[in-house]
Amino acid sequence: MLQEQQAEWFSNQVVSWYQQHGRKALPWQLNKSPYKTWLSEVMLQQTQVATVIPYFNRFIEQYPTVSALAAAPLDHILHLWTGLGYYARARNLHKAATMIVQQYNGEFPTEFEAVLALPGVGRSTAGAILSLSLQQHWPILDGNCKRVLSRFAAIDGWPGIKAVEQKLWQLAEQVTPKQQAAAFNQAMMDLGATLCTRSKPRCVDCPVKLHCQAALRGEQALFPGKKPKKTLPERQSFWLLLEHKQQVLLTQRPAAGLWGGLYGFLEFDSAEQRQQYCQLNALSIIKSEDLPAFRHTFSHFHLWIQPQRVLLAQNPLSVQQSAATWFTIEALPTVGLSAPAKQLFLQILPQSSTTSG
Ligand code: SF4
Repeated sequence: MLQEQQAEWFSNQVVSWYQQHGRKALPWQLNKSPYKTWLSEVMLQQTQVATVIPYFNRFIEQYPTVSALAAAPLDHILHLWTGLGYYARARNLHKAATMIVQQYNGEFPTEFEAVLALPGVGRSTAGAILSLSLQQHWPILDGNCKRVLSRFAAIDGWPGIKAVEQKLWQLAEQVTPKQQAAAFNQAMMDLGATLCTRSKPRCVDCPVKLHCQAALRGEQALFPGKKPKKTLPERQSFWLLLEHKQQVLLTQRPAAGLWGGLYGFLEFDSAEQRQQYCQLNALSIIKSEDLPAFRHTFSHFHLWIQPQRVLLAQNPLSVQQSAATWFTIEALPTVGLSAPAKQLFLQILPQSSTTSG
């Protein structure tokens, strides 16, 4: 939370900046109405201003009122929406327009709760509609505002986390002035879109740079916090590199599944299973060496590979491995190898083979 004076200073700076630099002639800002603001805010939810303008103009021409929008076949609306993406927005517009006709006689509601109840309208959009078109005192918190506020007050954490979002809402409530909420909210969106951009914000031109915590620390890139990466589960696999007379045993994997049809080394679920295998096949081990474990990452898990290199005195004819083949360790075999198998194979190649081309 900011101190009262600081919050007031922030609001004043932002509103004065808006008088000079804010955008005031966008199509939905001329002859404002809650209907136009709603339409523009929904279109702007996932899309840049420049892209939205021609779509907005076509919509208003075709559907100048909520009733006209409600009466239109959904197919027409979706057709006009083509290219804007996120089609649920268009479907929600139609549903909401129908609701407004049924419940409010086609007059766009002016109560916050009623606007919030419309399909596709969240707290920030409801606040934007009522503040921008009717000067009501509601804070907003779109992506641009989140960026400006989290940088100004150095709010840690990803705004997708409830607690972080709540802090940002508190801050938004604190800085949104009772008077001129429309100018302030528009300015915040403009600031975020033009100066306080995701990368390379133009802090020198920013009206709140004097007290912006992120700018003072040179840590603009740290705010807002990034979405935490999903931690992938970890699995282990115990590999066995059986070698005999400059040959190594590879097996082909089943056609379906992970690394389908590719060749790799013998694999076991545990070190014990690997040891049992060696015992069961009465392998004549001359030397055994654990190679460094390494990690291979799939989209849905990390695989820790624990390789063991075992040199045999005799060709183990007893090895029961249906799809196993001996390959000479002179060059990479000309069969499909899984990436980590190839990595390991390169490690066991004689030095001359890896450097000669
Ligand atoms: S000073 Fe820089 S980082 Fe801070 S709000 Fe302004 S543009 Fe954003």
